[in-house]
Amino acid sequence: MAIKIFNTLTKQKEELIPIEPGKIRMYLCGPTVYDFFHIGNARPFIIYDIFRRYLSYRGFEVKFVMNITDIDDKIIKKSADEQVDAATVAQKYSDAFFEDIKKLGIQPADKYPRATENIPEIIALIEKLVDKGLAYVVDGDVFFSVSDFQNYGKLSGKNIDQLKSGARIEVDSRKKNPLDFALWKTVKEGEPYWDSPWGRGRPGWHIECSVMSMKCLGETFDIHAGGADLIFPHHENEIAQSEGATGKQFVRYWLHNGFLNIEGEKMSKSLGNFFTTREILTQYPAEVLRIFFLMKHYRSPVNFSEELVQQAQNALERIITTISNIDVALDQSQRELSGEAALTESIDALRDGFIAEMDDDFNTAGAMSKIFDLVKEANLILTKTQYSDADYLALQKIKETIVEFDSFLGILSYKQHQQTTITEEALIEILLNVRSELRRRKIFDLSDEIREKLIALGVEIHDRPDKPIWRKK
Ligand code: AMP
Ligand code: ZN
Repeated sequence: MAIKIFNTLTKQKEELIPIEPGKIRMYLCGPTVYDFFHIGNARPFIIYDIFRRYLSYRGFEVKFVMNITDIDDKIIKKSADEQVDAATVAQKYSDAFFEDIKKLGIQPADKYPRATENIPEIIALIEKLVDKGLAYVVDGDVFFSVSDFQNYGKLSGKNIDQLKSGARIEVDSRKKNPLDFALWKTVKEGEPYWDSPWGRGRPGWHIECSVMSMKCLGETFDIHAGGADLIFPHHENEIAQSEGATGKQFVRYWLHNGFLNIEGEKMSKSLGNFFTTREILTQYPAEVLRIFFLMKHYRSPVNFSEELVQQAQNALERIITTISNIDVALDQSQRELSGEAALTESIDALRDGFIAEMDDDFNTAGAMSKIFDLVKEANLILTKTQYSDADYLALQKIKETIVEFDSFLGILSYKQHQQTTITEEALIEILLNVRSELRRRKIFDLSDEIREKLIALGVEIHDRPDKPIWRKK
């Protein structure tokens, strides 16, 4: 069956037909490394990791590239604030980025090109645009001339006049059109710079992505992804630069995720309404964040609240508990199983349904509902007092199906995670709470036994009127 994806360029779901049969070349706009990334930024990192792995699961050979924007106004501002050079800021936060995406269970991209490592290629592309009359030089700055590119606005679905009235653009009398954007910025006092035919300066953000994506994936590639805030101007400008220079279609399918909102507003650094992914990861394991995003369609907005994350965690625990109950049941089977699994038709239908949902523009929310249905089927069997071979085989089949899908969902590692966080302190607290309850119910033989066993393990217990206190000898 064909995979369909919603293409922002055509505003419709289209069948995914790769340029080269069996191969997908995919680019995701990566982070600007001037700070720790927030949980809104984590949405594209997580969902496109899942999509990329799903495409591999469906048999495509996927080449996945994510850039690192390591020179930018925000990095320069941070370097001035922190009194260190821009390269130090970029290194610190790109190291942090790699640590955080690893913790999120994101598989490494095939390439992570950096803007500062591609300056000669960036200069070459700008020169080409100048030669073709699509860019012009003013006082050491180079601007792209949007009115000289025929299809400017095709991704946003607006013409230049509509875009002009909707955009917040700085007034710069040197530009021919207010929407013209900088390809090269002349150096200012104290800023990092590179030599170029237009003097010392640095590249604009949009040209970096055109250069790095085409260098790694070719002049025309299959999928370009990012958050919906990048449609205009970033991706619109990438199209203008790339197609202006090559005369070829730049990207076949454009994918954009919806925002993560907090109290109805987009989470963003500039609004200050953000939590860093690092902070959130101290409260919730990565698998909870993954299922939190999986339970929504990637193009829909998603609200971030304690309550919704907790719901995601409960849903994940339902899956994990069922799988471990299946393991316990299968351990008890202790015999060669034969015959056909129970519920075969319904398990197969849920399995096919899951794939059909994923094939339909990566509808992870619909796909997850099939997993929950599988879990329900398993629990119906697990409530029985005795299992037949057919029951055992059904449990096995359900587990294998979920484990197979986890090759791209990346949520089942949650259990191990939980185990590593069990502490001695937490267990002692649990035992002491049980002991208090036993005392309250006047079951003193058992409560004394807990006390003696803990003392034998070197735990001192002092009973206070409100609650016992303890310490290790
Ligand atoms: P930035 O570092 O701001 O360029 O953002 C990195 C990625 O995160 C881009 O793909 C943005 O579109 C995306 N992004 C930023 N804020 C949000 C948000 N609140 N919800 C979803 N995606 C976001
Ligand atoms: Zn980009």
